[in-house]
Amino acid sequence: MDFEYSENCQELRIRMQNFMDDHIIPRLGAWRDEVAAGQYPVSFMEDLKDLAKSEGLWNMFLKDLKDDEPGMGLSNLDYAPLAEILGRVPWASEVFNCSAPDTGNMELLHLFANEEQYEEYLAPLLNGEIRSSFAMTEPDVASSDATNIQTMIKRDGDDYVINGRKWFISNAAHPRCTFMIVMGKTDPDGPTYSQQSMVLVPMDTPGVEVVRNISVLSHHSPAGHCEIVFRDVRVPASNLLGGEGDGFMMAQARLGPGRIHHCMRSIGQMELALELMCARAQERKTFGKFLHEHGSVSEEIARSRMEIEQARLLVLKSAAMVDKVGAGGARKEISMIKAIIPALQCKVADRAMQVFGAMGISPDTPLGAIYTGGRTLRYADGPDEVHLRRIARMEIKESGERLAETARFLNIPER
Ligand SMILES: Cc1cc2nc3c(=O)[nH]c(=O)nc-3n(C[C@H](O)[C@H](O)[C@H](O)COP(=O)(O)OP(=O)(O)OC[C@H]3O[C@@H](n4cnc5c(N)ncnc54)[C@H](O)[C@@H]3O)c2cc1C
Repeated sequence: MDFEYSENCQELRIRMQNFMDDHIIPRLGAWRDEVAAGQYPVSFMEDLKDLAKSEGLWNMFLKDLKDDEPGMGLSNLDYAPLAEILGRVPWASEVFNCSAPDTGNMELLHLFANEEQYEEYLAPLLNGEIRSSFAMTEPDVASSDATNIQTMIKRDGDDYVINGRKWFISNAAHPRCTFMIVMGKTDPDGPTYSQQSMVLVPMDTPGVEVVRNISVLSHHSPAGHCEIVFRDVRVPASNLLGGEGDGFMMAQARLGPGRIHHCMRSIGQMELALELMCARAQERKTFGKFLHEHGSVSEEIARSRMEIEQARLLVLKSAAMVDKVGAGGARKEISMIKAIIPALQCKVADRAMQVFGAMGISPDTPLGAIYTGGRTLRYADGPDEVHLRRIARMEIKESGERLAETARFLNIPER
C-alpha cells in the first residue's frame, strides 16, 4: 500500500494551492460583499473561470473524457486531494467547473445523453457556459427513499407533461442555471425500481415556477436550495435522459464519485477549522494559561487531528476503490464516508467554535458556515441513517458468508 500522492497529483496540488493563494483568497472579501449586495454570480467569477481554464485546471473530476472535451480526466484518487484544497473556500469549486450539482449532472449526461442532448446540455456545461440542477426531493414524501417520489412525467403524443413539487433543489437560483434533470414517475404501476425516469427540463419552460430559495440554518445560499413547482410542464419526448424506467438506476449511478468530492471538500473545511482552533488556542489566555495549555482544549485539538486523519484515509481508500472497481463495487465504502464525515465536520467545527468563545458563532469566522455545511450534508445525497442501513445490510450478508467459511474450516456440520 502506497500512501504517497502520485507525482501528477503532487504537482497539481501545488498549482491548485498557488491559484487559490493568488486569485481566490484575495477575493474572499469582495465575493462576500457582492453577494451581500445581491449580485450573483459576482463580477470576477467569469474572469477567474477563464483563467482556470487557460491554466488547465478545469473539469478535474471527470474521467474517461473524449479527445475534444475540455478537462483533465483525473482519477478519483488524484482528484480527491485537489477537492480537499477547493473545500476551504465554499465558492472555489465553481471557478474550476467542479461544483455540485453540475459534476453529478455531467457524469450522468456523459453516461446517458444522446448526441443532441450532448450538444445542447453537456457541451455548454463542460465549457462552464451554463449551470444546472438535479431535482429529486419532494416536500410531500420521504425522499430518502427515492421510490416514494410522486412527481408525474406523463407521455402525451410527442411530449412529456410534468406535474409535481420539488424542494431543496441546489443551484436553481443561480442566474446561469439553465436546466434541471428532473426525476419523476413515468410508470407508477410498474415494478418498484422501474417506475422512475429522468427528463431534461429547461428552467424557462412554461409551468416551471421557482417558489422560493430556502435558507438552511439561517444561511442564505446565493445559488439556492429552491422549492420548485411544475404545473403541466411540457417538454419534447426527446428530452428523456436514458430509457423510460431507468431513473432509479441512473440516480444511483450519479451519486458515487460526487460523495467522494463532497467528503474531500469537507476534509478541507475541517482542516481549516482545526487550524483556526489551534491559532486561537495559542493567542487567548484564561486563568493564567493559554487555552491550549488547558488539558480539555488540547485534547479536543488532538482528537480532531486523529479523526480527520482517519477520515481522510477512508475517503482516499474509497476513491481508489471507485477507480479500480467502479462506484458499484465501492458502495459500502462510499456509504461509510458519507455517514462519518459530515457528522465529523459538525463535531470539529463545534469544537473550534467553543474554543473561539462567542466569536466562534459570529460571522467573523467561517466556523458557523463550516458547521452548517456539515449539518446540511448529513441529509444531502442521502441521510446518515440510509447509509448506515446499507452498511449494516452488507456487513450482515458478508458476515454470514464468513461464518459459513469458518464453519467449513472447523468442520462443523451444516444445520
Ligand atoms: C442543503 C441541501 C441541499 C440539497 N440539495 C438537493 C438537490 O440538489 N436535489 C435534490 O433532489 N435534493 C436535495 N436535497 C434534499 C436531500 O437529498 C433530502 O433532504 C434527503 O434525501 C432526505 O430526504 P427528506 O428530506 O425527504 O427526509 P425523509 O426521507 O423524510 O427522512 C427524514 C429522516 O428520516 C430518517 N430516516 C430515513 N430513512 C431511515 C432509515 N432507514 N432508518 C432510520 N432513519 C431513517 C433520517 O434521519 C432522515 O433525515 C438537499 C438537502 C439539503 C439539506
